[in-house]
Amino acid sequence: MNAELLIKNGRVIDPANGIDKECDVLINDGKIAVVGKVEKPAGTVIDAAGKLVTPGLIDIHVHFREPGDEEEETIASGSAAAVAAGFTSVVCMPNTNPVIENETDVEYIHRKARQTRKTHVYTMGAITKGLQGVEIAEMGFMSMAGAVGFTDDGRGVQSPAVMLRALKYAAMFDTVITQHCQDDSIAGNGVMNSGYYSTILGLPGLDPLAEEAMLWRDIQLIKRTNVRYHAQHISTSGAIELMRAAKRDSLPITCEVAPHHLLLTDECCAEYDTNYKVNPPLRGEKDVEALKCAIADGLVDALATDHAPHLQSEKELEFLTAPFGIASLECALGLYIKALVEPGILDWPGLISLMTYKPAKIIAIDKGTLGVGKQADVTIIDPDVEYTIDVNKFHSKSKNCPYHGWKVKGRVEKTIVGGEIRFEV
Ligand SMILES: [Zn+2]
Ligand SMILES: [Zn+2]
Repeated sequence: MNAELLIKNGRVIDPANGIDKECDVLINDGKIAVVGKVEKPAGTVIDAAGKLVTPGLIDIHVHFREPGDEEEETIASGSAAAVAAGFTSVVCMPNTNPVIENETDVEYIHRKARQTRKTHVYTMGAITKGLQGVEIAEMGFMSMAGAVGFTDDGRGVQSPAVMLRALKYAAMFDTVITQHCQDDSIAGNGVMNSGYYSTILGLPGLDPLAEEAMLWRDIQLIKRTNVRYHAQHISTSGAIELMRAAKRDSLPITCEVAPHHLLLTDECCAEYDTNYKVNPPLRGEKDVEALKCAIADGLVDALATDHAPHLQSEKELEFLTAPFGIASLECALGLYIKALVEPGILDWPGLISLMTYKPAKIIAIDKGTLGVGKQADVTIIDPDVEYTIDVNKFHSKSKNCPYHGWKVKGRVEKTIVGGEIRFEV
């Protein structure tokens, strides 16, 4: 392996350091050595003229299904998908089988990731044992083993008393508690957004209030504890308003959105296609607009994917029984460009910041910048290449992706992790 790697003449976008200019990036021994003009020839030279050179992308919300459902995804297949999509760091959710709820489980994920040697794989641990919402999991030990946050994702922590205890516990080791905001007593057995389309389709609806009620409750708990809190995949205009108010009050709260909540609405479910069944569900136009406005306003802290792979055979079940989830990791960048950059909601540095240093900050990892001396995780993007999303070309094991056949612009050309090229087209 060449110790030196020189990326020449790209448009270097490093929002954390306020850089957006044409220059070179020299990598030496896996670290960023120079961002500027580099004259001397180095080991390997990559010509990046016309390309964007950015910090490696970070996705703080993926489901890699290992352990337990390796036929849907593994850490190896998910990691291959990640680097193909420009992600140099991903964060796995703990709702596997068994649940990631102790130190050994966390170490298992890290070991599998090391064997794979593709992307950096982090994991969150469960807030409660077995995601049952009753007994707090071993968050302290998991944190020491490297868990970067805690969530019962797939469901929300229903009991306010348990959530309060979890927040107080988390305060002892300065971590982030993240929540899939959903009050089950309101959500009931809903399978899609409640509204006009759920009524005409005769499907039980998931009321936006289920998301908003839990977020409102959690905000009251954060006022009491002042612990770092992150709302996952927020999807409703009401949730946006709650976030706006909480941030105005300077609470330590952040939020993410997922691409499907920006590009699709509940109308997509009209044909009963289960590839559009996702939780939180696809909402209405008004919610999509509210999310986009919130992103434009700087209210949203991260763009994630909630990559949720499922077997074809499961997704072929009827809408009522098929599992929730969309596999979107491998097309995320193109989707976000389509949703946010093309319509002028974000410029390039704005997009890159929400996919790099801002999500890194939420989980407190030293990543997402091209600062000199930092580990060299770099993504090279050709912003002009147009391509058609083809699930059959996915590295991911699952193809439950409603974007198959969509034309998008902006393709990942190379993904460099720790100074090594781990993906190139
Ligand atoms: Zn979730
Ligand atoms: Zn999720």
